[in-house]
Amino acid sequence: MTPLIADEVHVESPEAAVAPPSVRLDPDLLSDIKRFGAADVSACFSCGNCTAICPLSDGDGTFPRRMIRYAQLGMKDALISSKELWSCYHCGTCSDSCPTQADPAGFMAAARRYAIASYDRTRLARTLSTRAVLGTIIALALAAFFALFMYASHGVERASRLALFDFIPERLIHLTGVVVMSLVALAALVGVASMVAGIARREGVRFRDVLGGPGAWGRSLRALWLALGIEALGQRRYRNDCGEAAEAEPLYRRRWLIHALTLWGFLGLFLATILDYGLALIGVKATGTPVPIWYPVRLLGTVAGAAMVYGATLLIWNRLRRANVTASQSQFSDWLLLALVWVTGVTGFAIEVALYLPHPPTWGYWVFLVHVAVAIELVLLLPFTKLAHAIYRPVALFFHALAGTRTAESN
Ligand code: SF4
Ligand code: SF4
Repeated sequence: MTPLIADEVHVESPEAAVAPPSVRLDPDLLSDIKRFGAADVSACFSCGNCTAICPLSDGDGTFPRRMIRYAQLGMKDALISSKELWSCYHCGTCSDSCPTQADPAGFMAAARRYAIASYDRTRLARTLSTRAVLGTIIALALAAFFALFMYASHGVERASRLALFDFIPERLIHLTGVVVMSLVALAALVGVASMVAGIARREGVRFRDVLGGPGAWGRSLRALWLALGIEALGQRRYRNDCGEAAEAEPLYRRRWLIHALTLWGFLGLFLATILDYGLALIGVKATGTPVPIWYPVRLLGTVAGAAMVYGATLLIWNRLRRANVTASQSQFSDWLLLALVWVTGVTGFAIEVALYLPHPPTWGYWVFLVHVAVAIELVLLLPFTKLAHAIYRPVALFFHALAGTRTAESN
């Protein structure tokens, strides 16, 4: 069997662990990760069943059990900067084969939550993942704050047509969006910089080596295509390698498609919002001007919204089904993200229906208020909920690919 952590710590058992002086050990790591939803993995004896059955396990034969070993040994830096953390798609296959009920799939999901919380300097991600009551209060308070903030500047409710931006000023939404996006960008940048520094240390490369020198452009483009094009947007390994486990499911219920539709829908709505503002900026159409349903930006928003609501509904349904089987699969932050995505999508559709009704209903204004408040909260919490993996996963895979190529070139 391939020895675990042979290059970092030479051990056959956790008790016999002897760490090199450069490795910082955290004795509380295992218990801390448990708070993020992991089962008790202390009984894992590296039998390798999970490795043998994992459809994404590669040639070295240590994925995913190496991650559990890191946690047992307290090797926090190695765990949160590892590529394997972001290679797992949580298909759950490995957990079924574990003789000690260590639930390796649940462990990997918990370790990702733990990594995101470790990179977050505000500790909000940790609170949302580990303290459900306080997290609920924060989530409700934020939604109430944004709703009241918008409502404080409300204008007229027209009876003849649904004039949404007469009710909530478009400029107020725009400026709030800019402030929120700036905060999100700052929080995400700090977290990502911290992760990238950890990866560089782990891989033993310097930034100027991977981002400079001969061939840097080609290297970077290849890594970008692999991380963003093939993995994040194309979901190739999820689609192909994890497909075996999903073969029994019809296409419309396959996990990779549900996940992809939610992601593509979210990105499509984001793009439609930016395009709408862009068209207003160049004077083609003022924001909020009535347009037919087939107007390209409206059509993009409708299709993307449908994809997102479909994906989020099935993700919620699947989690509810799995909740009967194991309690370690979902944390509060996972539910919060799904709830925010679902409410944003459904209220968006309700507004669209209201806009095209022959007699515009006044409830359209109130649904619009809820939609704006929840959508702003969703964006604000992006770096602190499970949605943060949409940033961390491609960046981690990009830098690991880049560092790997550079190391191979210099050998
Ligand atoms: S199958 Fe279970 S006991 Fe065996 S290595 Fe994986 S997590 Fe550990
Ligand atoms: S959850 Fe699936 S992808 Fe992740 S380690 Fe287990 S078998 Fe592999």
